[in-house]
Amino acid sequence: MKSPDPNGSNAPDQQGKPSGFSRRQLLAGTPLAAFGVAVSGLNLGNVTSSVAAELTEKKNSVETAADPSPGSEAKKEQLDDFMFDIEKDGKGWTGPGGSAKEASVAEFPLSQSIAGVSMRLNPGGFRELHWHAIAAEWAYVLEGHVRTTVISPDGQAETDDFQVGDIWYFPKGHGHALECLGNQPCHFLLGFDSGHFSEFGTFSVTDWLGHTDLGILSRALNLPAAALVNIPKKEVYIGTGHVPPKDAPDNLNPAVPPSQSSHKFRMETMPPTHEFSGGFIKVVSSKEFPIQRTLTAARMDIESGGLREMHWHPNADEWQFVMGGEGKVTIFGSHGRVKTMAYGPGMISFVKQGYGHFVENTGAETLRLLILFNAPTYEEILLTSWLAANPAQLVADHFGLTLDQVNEFPKDSDGIITSRI
Ligand code: MN
Ligand code: MN
Repeated sequence: MKSPDPNGSNAPDQQGKPSGFSRRQLLAGTPLAAFGVAVSGLNLGNVTSSVAAELTEKKNSVETAADPSPGSEAKKEQLDDFMFDIEKDGKGWTGPGGSAKEASVAEFPLSQSIAGVSMRLNPGGFRELHWHAIAAEWAYVLEGHVRTTVISPDGQAETDDFQVGDIWYFPKGHGHALECLGNQPCHFLLGFDSGHFSEFGTFSVTDWLGHTDLGILSRALNLPAAALVNIPKKEVYIGTGHVPPKDAPDNLNPAVPPSQSSHKFRMETMPPTHEFSGGFIKVVSSKEFPIQRTLTAARMDIESGGLREMHWHPNADEWQFVMGGEGKVTIFGSHGRVKTMAYGPGMISFVKQGYGHFVENTGAETLRLLILFNAPTYEEILLTSWLAANPAQLVADHFGLTLDQVNEFPKDSDGIITSRI
């Protein structure tokens, strides 16, 4: 997305605390050597990313082993806030063709892996031809109709029309454009598989051509330079044009071969992947939507009073957008760190990979969630499934309960429950 500040005030070093893990903790913890980590001569302030990742893994061992007892001093560290109101607080852009609100790491530093944009186009409005250098683009249509065009590196192109509940996915770097279809405005939620997509990553065609020598453009586009003097000198971003015809017209070159892999999936019309007593989930991974290679999408409804059970995702961060309703999310971040935050329409919640969490519907309406995971396959482990997969005596001994009591625990986990008692 276009930054209102072309000099890039959103520098990467303004991102927030990376992971709740500080160098201080690492250095103050039990000596790493005790855990088999070779640290001799290692400059922790300048580690390579692979070494840093390895150390981040090891730090969990360090934290656990160095702090075995509940209530010890290290428990004072709190989880970061994990919600953001994209409609209210997102960085905004408005023009005659439409508007956009953005949540990248500049606005929502916790979400390093996924960024979002809420975009509206007016009739005749178009999001100009562009690509994203460092991120793939996903979207869900919330209102109206949208037409997209996209080209792949193999020279194949696709034009698709989208209605409410449809999703698209454009791999990183593939050139694309969006048009509002018909005489009503459209609204869609965009998701990107990098929280940093905005600052470093959006390349627009008018931005490039407007900053290219006219002699070069004349040669490249086969027009006299005089015909090109009035092209935009800066990025258009969202432009105004003609309402597109109902049927997609030919491309400039009608012979461009059609894409062999679909960029479109009708998410809302698919049947639920799982139906529960308190709601449903539809999961669209790369299995259902093969081109969606870096993300898994989900639609979840939690009925009023319902509880999305305690669980975690071993392989992915979770990014939720509230389409409707009200709820509360509680996250468990190890080390005694637990935080609950409330959300409602237009808000985003972010749960880091592996962090335990649950969601309560606190309102009278169905809580309707649109969810992205930054992995092509879907994984979850439910607390109740986990407990049920252990011997009754072992479970009883953990909690000081009797065998009779733990035998009341659910044997078949639900997923989204109304009430059990
Ligand atoms: Mn895009
Ligand atoms: Mn989850």
